[in-house]
Amino acid sequence: GNLVAIVGRPNVGKSTLFNRLTQSRQAIVNEQAGTTRDRQYGKSEWVGKEFSVVDTGGWVVNSDDIFEEEIRKQVVLAIEEADVILFVVDVMNGVTDLDMDVANILRRSKTPVIVVANKTDNNMLQYNAAEFYSLGLGDPYCISAMSGSGTGELLDCILSKFRKEASEILDEDIPRFAVVGRPNVGKSSIVNAFIGEERNIVTEIAGTTRDSIYTRYNKFGFDFYLVDTAGIRKKNKVTEDLEYYSVIRSIRSIENADVCILMLDATRGIEGQDLNIFSLIQRNQKGLVVVVNKWDLVEVKTDAVMKGYEDAIRNRLAPFTDFPIIFTSALTKQRIFRVLETATEVYKARTTKISTARLNEEMLPLIEAYPPPSNKGKYIKIKYVTQLPNTRIPSFVFFANLPQYVKEPYKRFLENKIRERWNLSGTPINIFIRQK
Ligand code: GDP
Repeated sequence: GNLVAIVGRPNVGKSTLFNRLTQSRQAIVNEQAGTTRDRQYGKSEWVGKEFSVVDTGGWVVNSDDIFEEEIRKQVVLAIEEADVILFVVDVMNGVTDLDMDVANILRRSKTPVIVVANKTDNNMLQYNAAEFYSLGLGDPYCISAMSGSGTGELLDCILSKFRKEASEILDEDIPRFAVVGRPNVGKSSIVNAFIGEERNIVTEIAGTTRDSIYTRYNKFGFDFYLVDTAGIRKKNKVTEDLEYYSVIRSIRSIENADVCILMLDATRGIEGQDLNIFSLIQRNQKGLVVVVNKWDLVEVKTDAVMKGYEDAIRNRLAPFTDFPIIFTSALTKQRIFRVLETATEVYKARTTKISTARLNEEMLPLIEAYPPPSNKGKYIKIKYVTQLPNTRIPSFVFFANLPQYVKEPYKRFLENKIRERWNLSGTPINIFIRQK
């Protein structure tokens, strides 16, 4: 997917613009388990084309007293990660010193930049916008994020800057894995352990904005693409200390993957950044394998200790808990093979097709034995279940006489039974109840 980043100094209207761009899509996205971070990351759609929007400023809590240094870091991060940057300025204030600083950094990047002259709430203010030509970044787009005027033209312009998606030229039957996690959990190390020194690269697909978003490998008998190894490519000293750094850096990889390999550090607990990355995986409905790395540094490695880790992780990531957890050492290559094997299994689970005959054969007797509780004296009958074709994740429809009375706990019961019976560990699934 394409990623649009919003940058600019505080109070120019970045979050208003973010809301304006993501508003219509938000309702759909939020249906998923997404919890926090809606203010910073969202989906947008224009003339049938979907893309992601990130407000780099939205991550800073007290953005009114934000340091200039912090803004510069956000801009550097946006340049690295985004396909298009919206540089928001304020027609009421004109060009400030900080705007000029930001423009100086942006002018040196290859990422397309659109200057957005916000707060152009009436036509007279358009004349003020001429001043923004001095930023040296081309025509300013006059908009009012508040009223929405001018945003249509802006969206047309954004779309015109996107490039062809690599996914259009990929082999659809080969799983796409992304290795994600906080800095220093061992992402580069595990990728190197996967691919070895000889770098068993089959094909490299270039042509998108990043040097190489997908690289195809054939290792240990597994055929897969690693997504955005570019995200693992190099450390950036300027931005790596930012709390949200790894989250923004993960967005593209997660969106482009089928299965995410979420790495945690065995010597540290689960932290905010881990949870935010997990939430991105969930909101994008991707498969998940949790890897607890640096296991070699854990002194007592009994089954009980492992179980303790597993329980703690599942507790933090609840309510979605049905995913595999693997304990690895990228250093000694312990269980590296297992990670690829498990990711491949999760891919299979995510693309599982269960025949209607088998679903009904297995599920109807269970439903008969444990029917949905009756509501106001009315019996609720589920007669039939089928899997929907062509969905992103396995999605099942149960047909009932009174679908509105089938509540969440019962849907969870149905989900758990399907998971138990067909081993769908690592993939989210959908359960729908419809009128028969
Ligand atoms: P990244 O930022 O997630 O790509 O992390 P790196 O792969 O660069 O690893 C960060 C540091 O942790 C490096 O010094 C690695 O050598 C070290 N490291 C990575 N994996 C392991 C591991 O399994 N065990 C130990 N002991 N150290 C590791």
